[in-house]
Amino acid sequence: MSCGEHHDVDCSEILQRVYVFIDNELEDASNDEIRQHLEECAPCLDQYDLERCVKKLVHRSCGGEHAPDSLREKILLRITQVRLEMHTQD
Ligand SMILES: [Zn+2]
Repeated sequence: MSCGEHHDVDCSEILQRVYVFIDNELEDASNDEIRQHLEECAPCLDQYDLERCVKKLVHRSCGGEHAPDSLREKILLRITQVRLEMHTQD
């Protein structure tokens, strides 16, 4: 995935690290890199918001327990579907 613009760090690389970024498990240097990228790259920011949203939902439905990947995938799939529907209505 790419937004077609040049960034210091490639979009695909950012997106791979966004999950970890949301968990706050990256060292500070990487955090800054990602934060800066998200500020200037709308597609990545979009994806980041989506991931954060999924994480919140998973967290809520599991009462704070670590969610199984299957549940996470199910929610992610559902959100993707909703977003696709939204886009088709444009
Ligand atoms: Zn990007």
